[in-house]
Amino acid sequence: MPELDRFDVVVVGAGPAGLAAANAAAGFGARVALIDENELPGGQIYRASRGSISASVREVIEDLSKKSVVRFDGSTVFEAPSDGVLRLWGPRGTQDIGYRSLVLAVGGRELFLPFPGWTLPNAMGIGGLQALVKAGLDVREKRVVVAGTGPLLLAVGAYLLEHGARVPIILEQAPLKDLALFGAGLVRYPAKIGQGISLGRHIATRLRAGAWVERAEGSRAVESVTWRKGGKSFQTECDFLACAYGFVPNVELPQLLGCEIQDGFVKVDDQQLTSVKGVFCAGEPTGIGGVDLSQVEGRIAGLVAIGQDDQAEALFGKRESWKRFARSMDRAFALRHELMELSTPDTIVCRCEDVRAGDLVAWESSRTAKLQTRCGMGPCQGRICGPATQKLFGWTQGSVRPPLSPVPLSALGRPLDEIEN
Ligand SMILES: Cc1cc2nc3c(=O)[nH]c(=O)nc-3n(C[C@H](O)[C@H](O)[C@H](O)COP(=O)(O)OP(=O)(O)OC[C@H]3O[C@@H](n4cnc5c(N)ncnc54)[C@H](O)[C@@H]3O)c2cc1C
Repeated sequence: MPELDRFDVVVVGAGPAGLAAANAAAGFGARVALIDENELPGGQIYRASRGSISASVREVIEDLSKKSVVRFDGSTVFEAPSDGVLRLWGPRGTQDIGYRSLVLAVGGRELFLPFPGWTLPNAMGIGGLQALVKAGLDVREKRVVVAGTGPLLLAVGAYLLEHGARVPIILEQAPLKDLALFGAGLVRYPAKIGQGISLGRHIATRLRAGAWVERAEGSRAVESVTWRKGGKSFQTECDFLACAYGFVPNVELPQLLGCEIQDGFVKVDDQQLTSVKGVFCAGEPTGIGGVDLSQVEGRIAGLVAIGQDDQAEALFGKRESWKRFARSMDRAFALRHELMELSTPDTIVCRCEDVRAGDLVAWESSRTAKLQTRCGMGPCQGRICGPATQKLFGWTQGSVRPPLSPVPLSALGRPLDEIEN
C-alpha cells in the first residue's frame, strides 16, 4: 500500500468558506490539501460557468497555486476510515489522505417542500436550474416561474433574464411587510443595498410577495403552475419551474466524524472548532448566512488550524456583524405554515423510492418510515426527503454511514484488495 500523504491542514469544500480557510492556512506556510467534488473550485455561488471560473475565484486559485496548496478537484470524500484520515474518490481512483487539522467547509443544499407536481420534469431547485444553465442548458425564450423564498430568488431571476429566459413571475412566500423590514435593515450593509437595487431594477415588476406555488401541472413535463396569494389562486403557463425554500446544511460528513450537531447545525466554538479535536467547521454547515459569513468563518478556521489564534480573533467582530445579517434573513424569510400543508396523500415525498405522503402519515419517526416504506433509502440517502419530512412531520434524521455519496463499486476496491491479500 502506498504511504499515506499527510497534510498540516485538509480542507473539504472549495466554496467561499473552504477557499478562505485554505488561503489563510497556506498564507503561513502550512501544507494544505483542498478537496472538492466539483471539477473546479468556487462552490455553489461561484460555480464555474461552461467550464470557466469567475475572475475573483481565478485570482484566489492563482494565489493558492503560489502557496503550498494541493488541489483535489473532482474528488468526493466518502469515508473516514480512521482517526486523522479521509478517503476520497476522484480522478486518481480511491485515495486516503491524512491531516493534522481538518476544516469542513462542505456547504448546504436547497430545501424542497413537496407539493403536487413538484417531481415533474423541468420542475427543480432555484440554484439547481442556475447550475444547469451554467453547465450549458439553453433557456433562451423559455418561460421560467421562479418561486420559494430568500434573496436567491432575485439573484437567479436576474441571472435567467440575462441568459435570455422569460421570467413571468417570481413568487416569494414571505409577506411584503417582512421584506420591507429586511430591506430597511440593509442600511447597515451598504454592499448589499447596491446588490438589492441592481437586482430590483430587473425584477421588481415580476415579484409577488406573500405568494407560493400550490401545484405544478403538465402531462410529460411542467406546463403551468397554480399559485396562491391573498386567498386567491392563479395559474401561469411555463416551461420550467424553479422552486426551493432556502437551504439546509450538509452535516453528513461532520456527523460521520462524530461532530456534535445542535438544532440541525454543526456546533462550533468561537474558533470554529467542533466537538472533535482538530476538526473545524465553517460556512453553511454551522448556520445559513450567505457568502460573507462563510468567508469570514473559513478564514478564522484556517488561521486557528495553524495556531494563528490572534489573527483569527481580530475577525470575530466582522463575523458577528454577518451573523446579525443572517438572523435578519431568518426572520424575514421564515417559512409560512401553509407550505407544510400542500401535499396530498398522492404527492411523492421520497422521489428516489417513489414514497408518497399518504404512505408516511402512519409512522412516528424517520426510522420506522424507512423500515416500512424505504423512504430515504435511495441514492440521495434522504438528502432531499429528510429535511422535507423534518418540516412536514417533525422527524429527526438518523445516523449516517459510509459511503456518504454514491461512488462506483470500484471506489470501494481497496478494502476488498486488502481482504484478498
Ligand atoms: C444550489 C445552490 C446555489 C446557490 N447559488 C447562489 C447564488 O447564485 N448566489 C448566492 O448569493 N448564493 C447562492 N447559494 C448560497 C451560497 O452557496 C452560500 O451563501 C455560501 O456561498 C456558501 O458557501 P460555503 O463555502 O459555505 O458552501 P458551498 O459554496 O456550498 O461550498 C461547499 C463545497 O463543498 C463541496 N463538498 C461538499 N461535500 C463534499 C464532499 N463530501 N467531498 C468533496 N467536496 C464536498 C461542494 O462540492 C461545494 O463546492 C447557493 C446555494 C446552493 C445550495
